[in-house]
Amino acid sequence: MKSYCFIVNPIAGGGKANSQVYRIEENFRAAGAEFKIYRTTGPRDATLAAARAAEEGFDIVVAAGGDGTVNEVLNGLVGSGAALAAIHGGKGNDFATAVAMPKNIDEACKSLLRSEIRAIDLGRVMERYFINSVGVGFDAAVALRVNRGIRLFNGVSAYIYAFFETLLSYQYVQMEIDLGSGPVKSDPVLVAVGIGQAYGGGMRIVPDAIQDDGLFDVCVFDRMNRLGLIYHFPKVFSGKLKNLEQANMYRTKELKLKLSEVRPLHMEGEIYFGDEMHFTLEPKGMKVLFGT
Ligand SMILES: [Mg+2]
Repeated sequence: MKSYCFIVNPIAGGGKANSQVYRIEENFRAAGAEFKIYRTTGPRDATLAAARAAEEGFDIVVAAGGDGTVNEVLNGLVGSGAALAAIHGGKGNDFATAVAMPKNIDEACKSLLRSEIRAIDLGRVMERYFINSVGVGFDAAVALRVNRGIRLFNGVSAYIYAFFETLLSYQYVQMEIDLGSGPVKSDPVLVAVGIGQAYGGGMRIVPDAIQDDGLFDVCVFDRMNRLGLIYHFPKVFSGKLKNLEQANMYRTKELKLKLSEVRPLHMEGEIYFGDEMHFTLEPKGMKVLFGT
């Protein structure tokens, strides 16, 4: 039987992951599985804890938090041989959804114990690894606004508020976009790069993405007026946004973005800043546990 280390972010999802710990303990004790629970103490601690767990020889390291926790755990595991797993423990759980992990914690524990492991593609940009999705442009500006905190609102309403606020203040940025055949100048609404299909808590920006085809799915969304954005935005949840003529969809192994100024990039719930972003992909570079 495999051994498991749970990296629990106690503040993720307003304490959601933490509240699931007793269910995890009960399920794993009943199964007689070897497991350990570790609670993180602050930013970046999950990366150190994941690296330590891999060193200690745990087969599977479970990110118990949201997508931000998944990204931190991933960055501690790359190259170790340990497999990455995730439960729905945060506000945004796009990776857990992408690997078909059940939302119910008891069902999720059963999936973890069945330990169906497959390798999927691993992305890299700005010295960090990602396993699901990255966005640059309008979407990153919204994510930045949400991450900095919005008084009076939380959850989905915070995103909606941030969407409208960003809509009023957003300054387009010039980009050189190189999908492998030389740079093309553009000032799109956003550029999204996906191994998985969704980000931001279920926004299916690259709905045809395949996790192990050795290629990123990329959406370059052309400039559109505010009313158009308001009207069409809800289509991102059904995956129909890609049918608009403004949505240019590509598949590529590599992507270079050069921005005319430093801007935010959102990577699985975390914000970074840069003006040069070189995306590379390692085919089937990460072992991942799938829900069953
Ligand atoms: Mg792919």
